[in-house]
Amino acid sequence: MHKVFKQSPAALCRWLLPLFLLLLFTQNLNAWGFWAHQRINRIAVFLLPPEMITFYKNNIDFITEHAVDPDKRRYASPDEAPRHYIDLDHYCTLPCNEVPQRWDSAVAKFSEDTLKAYGIVPWHLQLMMYRLTKAFQLRDKMQILRLSADIGHYIGDANVPLHTTENYNGQLTNQHGIHGFWESRVPELFGEDYDYFIGKAEFERKPMERIWKTVYESHAALDTVFGLEKTLSETFESDKKFAFEQRGQTTVKTYSKEYSEAYSKQMDGMVERRMRSAMKMVADLWYTCWVNAGSPDLNKLQDVPYSQEELQQIAEEEKRWKEKGKPMYGHQHPGEQRLDRRGPKPQPGIDSKKKTNKRGGGGGGGLPPRELSSHSPEPTHSSSKEKLKRPSSIHPVLLRQHSIFSGRLCLRQAIQRLGCFIGSILAIY
Ligand SMILES: [Zn+2]
Repeated sequence: MHKVFKQSPAALCRWLLPLFLLLLFTQNLNAWGFWAHQRINRIAVFLLPPEMITFYKNNIDFITEHAVDPDKRRYASPDEAPRHYIDLDHYCTLPCNEVPQRWDSAVAKFSEDTLKAYGIVPWHLQLMMYRLTKAFQLRDKMQILRLSADIGHYIGDANVPLHTTENYNGQLTNQHGIHGFWESRVPELFGEDYDYFIGKAEFERKPMERIWKTVYESHAALDTVFGLEKTLSETFESDKKFAFEQRGQTTVKTYSKEYSEAYSKQMDGMVERRMRSAMKMVADLWYTCWVNAGSPDLNKLQDVPYSQEELQQIAEEEKRWKEKGKPMYGHQHPGEQRLDRRGPKPQPGIDSKKKTNKRGGGGGGGLPPRELSSHSPEPTHSSSKEKLKRPSSIHPVLLRQHSIFSGRLCLRQAIQRLGCFIGSILAIY
């Protein structure tokens, strides 16, 4: 028998205690929930006009539950990750006039590879609005619901300052973890007390400008987001910054309530304001799509069943999401960190087939609309051809990455279980 197992219980504890503590500290900082996304979609429903609210209320559970689909999809789709952010600081400093608002112009200036490497959320939202408008025109109930839920998600992301910077998790300023801290921990602790009396949905005459204005507003808040946390971290008692909390079967290290409260107070309602901004924008853009589609009667929608291929796609996304487990924090995923370490980033204007998306890896893609009318306005996103395609098969590279990551996940879960087991032994002694 190994000499470790011949030790007395007290000696065994001394030997295992450091290992146990180490295991605790290796837990994910923020691995639960998509509370804010779901709340944004849910509240947005109540801002809609009478012609829309009945339909959306009747389906409010779907709209709420599926607010997080785009994040789940990131595990199965090669194109999904860049739809959630834009690293504006890669291109410019505010006021930022260098980035074309239209997709085609931006591609011409920077190349599609570069845009995808640094995030495309403002352009993707324009495409999503186009798709939702078409779904309203076709009176396709399921597409309306799915696209409405998706748009709510991307608008939520566009309102998060940390979705507009290369330093998206404070990794460049020694503030690692700030992403989940800002967008998950703070709203989950204090979001129930936010003021959600927001007003009514309004028609947006210039959606493209609205989307870009939102992204710039988010970006402008970054100095505050980073600066306050940095100062707080330097002045707060270090042993009170983090706490351990039980999440189901797992003990996680997370920002303490005291530290979160202090940060939230110093931000003076910023998280609440960004959530309110997102809710209003979601309702405004749903409403705008509906008006642009000719204000169809939502009591007379068609229940177009999913095709076999679409059902398979949905099942595949769900399966991969469950296999990979939950993201490490907010909208960042383990794959992002892995890909971050890959080589230099592409430079604007330099086309390169070797570029990789720095925050995501690939596989299928979201479901495209079933059919599109030729009378629709031209989308600003050049991927408009994509809407006529059926979902592609999973890329072999992703499959390989996926299996590697699944292996790592299993290992981590095994370590976690071992930690729990050792903890139980220590508790007994
Ligand atoms: Zn997201």
